[in-house]
Amino acid sequence: MTDALIIGGGIAGAVTAMALQKAGIDAEVFEAYATGADDVGAFLVVFTNGLEALRVIGAHGPVVANSFPAGRVEFVSGTGKRLGARTLAGAADATAMGPRTLTRATLYRVLHDEARRRGIPVRHGKRLVAAETVGDRRVVASFSDGSRAEGDLLIGADGIHSVVRKLIDPAAPRPHYTGQNTVCGYTRDVEPPSAPDTYTMIYGRRAFFGCTTAPDGEVWWFANAPGPERSRRDLAAVTADQWRQRVAALLDGDRTPAAAVVRATGEHIVASHAYDLAVTPRWYSDTMVIIGDAAHAAAPNAAQGASMAIEDAIVLAKCLRDQHEPRRAFHTYEELRRARVERAVAHSARMARRSAPGTMRRLVRDVLLPRSIEHGGDGADAWLTGYRIEW
Ligand SMILES: Cc1cc2nc3c(=O)[nH]c(=O)nc-3n(C[C@H](O)[C@H](O)[C@H](O)COP(=O)(O)OP(=O)(O)OC[C@H]3O[C@@H](n4cnc5c(N)ncnc54)[C@H](O)[C@@H]3O)c2cc1C
Repeated sequence: MTDALIIGGGIAGAVTAMALQKAGIDAEVFEAYATGADDVGAFLVVFTNGLEALRVIGAHGPVVANSFPAGRVEFVSGTGKRLGARTLAGAADATAMGPRTLTRATLYRVLHDEARRRGIPVRHGKRLVAAETVGDRRVVASFSDGSRAEGDLLIGADGIHSVVRKLIDPAAPRPHYTGQNTVCGYTRDVEPPSAPDTYTMIYGRRAFFGCTTAPDGEVWWFANAPGPERSRRDLAAVTADQWRQRVAALLDGDRTPAAAVVRATGEHIVASHAYDLAVTPRWYSDTMVIIGDAAHAAAPNAAQGASMAIEDAIVLAKCLRDQHEPRRAFHTYEELRRARVERAVAHSARMARRSAPGTMRRLVRDVLLPRSIEHGGDGADAWLTGYRIEW
């Protein structure tokens, strides 16, 4: 029987392990962090395509149970003008498979719990530093604690700064920093600007802002704040108070509730860099393959990175189920996935450009966005959210 080493216990890693189990392939997950990525404080939306992919392995239930629905999105200009509203694709789904909001840490936790419940070993504190193919196509992974593991194949689900991507192709492109910090916060000390299940998206003069309200009344918000790329340490050194002041200052002057929401937020503010990775020329070697953000990463605007990672995981497992030779399975996986994920990354980059500040952009947007919503607008996203995988 084939055995797989999965590097990275994030979204793609946990889902791949469960999908491989369904395909009859043993897998072990190796995660760099000691306790899981509980410190990842951002929230995200899993769309219908991601949930439907999870349904293939029967893992959608815990995600739905630990999240709340995202049904509508309304768009507001920094002047306070309402630009329109639309129902999110799949939101009307009576089977609760419409888009769901949850924190990234919760998504990690429920997927890990589910993987563990199915008997899949998840090893923490295992940071991959090297891997090589030995003998007759076996792969040996080396970790920073000096330990090693051997398998028939190695799956790099190690995120945007993937080591496996570099091992497969030392000339692989670096992720592109979009120039934006995504700052997220949570507060109960403000009148919610959005109804539960609605996202309010505000095209501020100097920063894009979005928020929704959890069922318990807590307001969850994010803002895209332009800023330089910092080292991980320098980013972590910026305090909640500094982020609060910086983001509120960017939103001051807009005639919207955004600045007040930010000012009403206490210590619960986190920030990360927004990257994208449009094209990675090589996805696989004889024994190694990359998936999720390791292979392709979209700026957060289209909110599809997690769903794409989940889809990748299911499709890869299906290819490995059907083709015994890993390289052939990797080839088919790439053929099935590349065009779709690259289109998603490009789509998200377009959304990022549309939300960027700028007077001309604002004038055009204030005229065109209401018309586009009226004519079905981003309903053209059916190619994204309508995707289904036949197991
Ligand atoms: C602010 C923000 C908001 C977002 N919002 C959304 C959204 O609304 N909807 C959406 O779908 N997506 C969203 N995304 C994107 C989404 O979070 C990613 O696309 C998704 O997490 C990718 O999953 P992954 O498993 O490929 O990578 P990750 O979730 O990053 O997991 C990678 C894992 O690998 C581990 N790892 C890294 N290096 C090593 C190593 N050398 N050895 C061992 N383990 C390693 C990491 O610790 C991590 O646990 C957002 C991203 C950001 C930053």
